[in-house]
Amino acid sequence: MEEARVFADRSLPMGEETLWTRKFPLSLLKEVASRGWFGVVIPEKYGGLNSGVTGASIVTEELGRVCSAISEAYAVSMFGGVEQILTFGTEEQKRTWLPKIAKGQAVGAVCITEPFAGSDAAGIETTARKEGDTYIVNGKKRFITNAGLADLYVVYARSSEKKEDKAKYQHLTAFLVEKGTPGFSVEKINELSGWTGLPNGTLDFDEMKVPASNCIGGEGTGWKVMMAGLNFERVVYSAGMLGPMREAIRNAVAYSQRRLQFDRPTIDLPTNQAKLAEMFSGLYNCRLLVYHAAHLLDEHEDAMVEASTAKMLVSDTYERLISDAIQVMGGDGWTRFYPVEAYLRDAKVNQIGAGTNQIMKLVIFRGALKAMNKDLKMLRRKMHTELRVPVSTTEPETKRVITQENVLKILAEDYVVNPGLYMTREDMKERLSEPDELKLSETLQALEAEGLVKLYRGGKGAMDLAKATYVGLRKALPLEKYRWFPEWLSKESIF
Ligand SMILES: Cc1cc2nc3c(=O)[nH]c(=O)nc-3n(C[C@H](O)[C@H](O)[C@H](O)COP(=O)(O)OP(=O)(O)OC[C@H]3O[C@@H](n4cnc5c(N)ncnc54)[C@H](O)[C@@H]3O)c2cc1C
Repeated sequence: MEEARVFADRSLPMGEETLWTRKFPLSLLKEVASRGWFGVVIPEKYGGLNSGVTGASIVTEELGRVCSAISEAYAVSMFGGVEQILTFGTEEQKRTWLPKIAKGQAVGAVCITEPFAGSDAAGIETTARKEGDTYIVNGKKRFITNAGLADLYVVYARSSEKKEDKAKYQHLTAFLVEKGTPGFSVEKINELSGWTGLPNGTLDFDEMKVPASNCIGGEGTGWKVMMAGLNFERVVYSAGMLGPMREAIRNAVAYSQRRLQFDRPTIDLPTNQAKLAEMFSGLYNCRLLVYHAAHLLDEHEDAMVEASTAKMLVSDTYERLISDAIQVMGGDGWTRFYPVEAYLRDAKVNQIGAGTNQIMKLVIFRGALKAMNKDLKMLRRKMHTELRVPVSTTEPETKRVITQENVLKILAEDYVVNPGLYMTREDMKERLSEPDELKLSETLQALEAEGLVKLYRGGKGAMDLAKATYVGLRKALPLEKYRWFPEWLSKESIF
């Protein structure tokens, strides 16, 4: 979006002023609103620009060049309402809120974190109890970006104390809460290390009455609403980091072209060139991650892994890149007379906000394991008849009926090619002619009782892994079947 780039170019001085005045740049926010950019993901029929997550990422990247106060206020505003209403809202909620948001008349905030619940978002303690057509909300939220500035707050509260609801993640509900709702107040505004000028603080809900019609997605669906919103949030949040990366590179290049040491510009020093090369490649890499994830979301694909990967890698790259930019600029880079040091103070929060990078690793591990399930299946291995070494095979397996002798043999043959591994039930079933789970369990238990097999029982007593014991191996096959020596080995050393 060329318009966003030109706007950012023109607004850069005001962004730098914010770093000194520490005042939120309200006039910039109003201009962003007047250009309709708050409606960038909102369909045209609700007064938006319909440019999707990709459009939102482009605007946020450009605003990020100006200052974090404006880019975060803008991005967080969308996290607090747009995605949740678009995906889970009723037609009436869409018609009521989306046109206002699109015009910038309803700046948003997202309220998940609490004093006693951070990474463990399912453990929030703010409660919502239904009384007629109203929910009574009690509790607190902290670290809320746009606290006080926002008109519309997406608040997640605990609507059920039933154990079974908690177990199914059906104990939370999402609400749209308007500024001015009785019982709703700002308790505290934080002094942050970075994000200069951006209001962030604690909110208090004291018997706050929220109309049931402001519930998003229905009672008990809060977790689903939260998770869907977080993918959008992580992508757009990452896009916001691309802007300062570009500005840091601009500052480092411009500075080192003009700074002379040892009779030459410092940009000619190979160490500085290597740092700049890493900065450029870091930026290009991060761009690919962000816009790939944005594209997937626009295609309505599940982008949980991609969004979390973007948030984790972009924030880590951001921190390194800004630190390198300061290094290229030497002492000047660390003064407040250039904006780069402010980006470094912002770097840390990017590794914490929208879920810490440690939580991103948990999400990526679990999500990718599921998403790549088919590609992660272990290939069956066998001894190559000519090479006489273990290799993967796709040849059909000779199937055997379930008997103690056959099961033990299967485990022993697996020992030959995977000497340190247990077999899964699936591995064993591939080699059996009967898919009879019960018979297999009974056979394995009988072998275990005889000391021929060792079983590893996973959760809830299920038998997940099995191996032949040394006694079992000896009983299944003669030693000759296990022996293997490299050709170069002198025969004298074998006994
Ligand atoms: C400037 C700023 C703006 C924010 N804006 C918002 C906002 O607008 N709305 C909102 O709802 N929240 C917001 N947050 C809150 C943010 O999402 C949380 O700070 C974040 O989720 C971490 O929670 P916590 O700070 O309580 O840390 P904790 O959850 O207490 O974590 C402390 C440390 O333990 C680690 N940890 C915790 N659990 C695990 C685990 N299971 N495995 C491995 N490591 C773990 C964490 O990674 C972290 O390093 C904001 C935070 C900041 C600082």
